Amino acid sequence: MHPFHYERAVDIDQAVRAAGEGARFIAGGTNLLDLMKENVERPQRLMDINSLGLDKVESLPNGGLRIGALIRNADLAAHPQVQQQYPLLASALMAGASPQLRNMATTGGNLMQRTRCYYFYDSSTSCNKREPGTGCGAIGGTTRIHAILGASEHCIAVHPSDMCVALAALQATVNVIGAKGPRSISFEQFHRLPGDTPQYDNTLGSDELILSVDLPAQGFSEYYSYLKIRDRLSYAFALVSVAAALRLGDDGRIVEARVALGGVAHKPWRLSEAENTLVHEQPGQRAFARFSDALLRHASGCGDNDFKIELARRAIMRALAQAAARTPQSQVDKCIV
Ligand code: SF4
Repeated sequence: MHPFHYERAVDIDQAVRAAGEGARFIAGGTNLLDLMKENVERPQRLMDINSLGLDKVESLPNGGLRIGALIRNADLAAHPQVQQQYPLLASALMAGASPQLRNMATTGGNLMQRTRCYYFYDSSTSCNKREPGTGCGAIGGTTRIHAILGASEHCIAVHPSDMCVALAALQATVNVIGAKGPRSISFEQFHRLPGDTPQYDNTLGSDELILSVDLPAQGFSEYYSYLKIRDRLSYAFALVSVAAALRLGDDGRIVEARVALGGVAHKPWRLSEAENTLVHEQPGQRAFARFSDALLRHASGCGDNDFKIELARRAIMRALAQAAARTPQSQVDKCIV
């Protein structure tokens, strides 16, 4: 590990002033410390932001919820309002990591966590995300966990978060502050596809700090499911995950549908035009199959990960069926029914 300067921020202004190239904010440290030990991240300065008081969950006047950037994943999952109004988010949080990690990991850190591509962590291999312009070790290598949607010739990595998949489906907003002042970023715009600059995971400026995440009032608390398919039942990243949320009318037809995929792209994957194909339909296999085909229309594998296309199709159909039947996936016994 490279030497670095460590400092505790006493207020947001000080934290923002210290931000920029060569500096990293640290809170739970559940990803950053691993990256530093592997020499993937080599910050010159670490600014500890744990004392900034950004660990509150507050109701918003519009009926939504503001989640502080520093609230721990375990605390957020157990929060009564999250459990009642946003059970999809609570479920996704409980599907992630291990109890120890959920006790440390924060909302802001969850958004900022980096890909688990094997080559990204192995500094003896080439990686455009770790060192731009060096090539991509994954392309032509082992690609079991890699992207089937939105990849580029420069990077085929996927975003590893569960929480972010639910936040994408719920259409959250990320509130940040930087040297130029505060701004809000729609969740859709926060994470990005790799294109020819895969070193950038998101649209946050290097001088910006995440303050909070806002959820709209609509939490889809009746018809939802978070389904995560992985190689083992706990402490594993998703091969494919699905956050499915429906709103049904009095006649039982779908009024609104939101579906986001995890484990398949550089960002949580949603297509509103595909979701629109579900509107006015009766929930059922035919409508769900047509939706899956639309959402996965541009999916392509690179050998080892070809299986993820069919896996995603089946997971989408299962998650939507669970949501429509009000039998959301259990994150306790994890048995998929
Ligand atoms: Fe690096 Fe992306 Fe290639 Fe993985 S897929 S080796 S993160 S450039």
